[in-house]
Amino acid sequence: MREIRAEQITEAVARLSMEANFELEDDVQKAIEEAFEKEESPAGKEVLRQILENSQIARTERMPICQDTGYAVVFAELGQDLHIVGGDFEAAVNEGVRSGYTEGYLRKSVLSDPIKGANTGDNTPAIVHLRIVPGDTLKLWIVPKGGGSENMSKIAMMKPADGVEGVKRFVVDCVRTASGNPCPPVVVGVGIGGTFEYCAYLAKKALLRMIGSTHPDSYYAELEKELLELVNDTGVGPMGLGGRVTALSVNIEAAPRHIASFPVSVNMNCHAARHKMVEL
Ligand code: SF4
Repeated sequence: MREIRAEQITEAVARLSMEANFELEDDVQKAIEEAFEKEESPAGKEVLRQILENSQIARTERMPICQDTGYAVVFAELGQDLHIVGGDFEAAVNEGVRSGYTEGYLRKSVLSDPIKGANTGDNTPAIVHLRIVPGDTLKLWIVPKGGGSENMSKIAMMKPADGVEGVKRFVVDCVRTASGNPCPPVVVGVGIGGTFEYCAYLAKKALLRMIGSTHPDSYYAELEKELLELVNDTGVGPMGLGGRVTALSVNIEAAPRHIASFPVSVNMNCHAARHKMVEL
């Protein structure tokens, strides 16, 4: 059985926490550059110019893209033939968050208790979504998630008879009512199916997909394209100031569901759509 040390996980999480906050991934950067070319509204175009300038400054000066450096959300796929030695997995992830957010002077945004709590001071604990999969590697996705876009999340337990038209209405309504709050242009993560809690997880997981990648199921690939057009037709535009580009991408994750339930969820990423991945 292959082994890795817990410190390797800590080191990777620390490094990626900083890199995610300093550098937009190439897919996001490219999508914003294309949006700048496409945008027709002067206010929208100016917003996109400023977003690109801000991204460049953050990259070269090693400064956060946004003052909200996010809740550290970590998706992990742990191969069942990999043995972690020298420490436990979640402690290693949290040590990485602690170290990365401290070394990178990233804002600490986590309260120890939702009502009574004080700031934990190191941005821990991370939210960890762990799956055990075949293989002997560990894949980690670090997704610092800003509060403004997270607050615009919604879930609906729709009637199965609402069908795909109901999904379209719900997604477009979420984006329209969110308006400028999630700092558009956004990436719209859509979960369809599963149970109540799993559907919310799917919408967040959908945000891991690279912008520009095609859904493996052609039905959902077409639905993503249609939803992107519908969302951009709302005219919300960059930062809600009006324009053609409200979203950079609509990403769907679908799962089996109970015959009596039809959960649909939306989780948006702002233009600071931070995500980094590593395989150990
Ligand atoms: S939604 Fe994104 S860009 Fe807007 S304040 Fe939050 S983290 Fe920053």
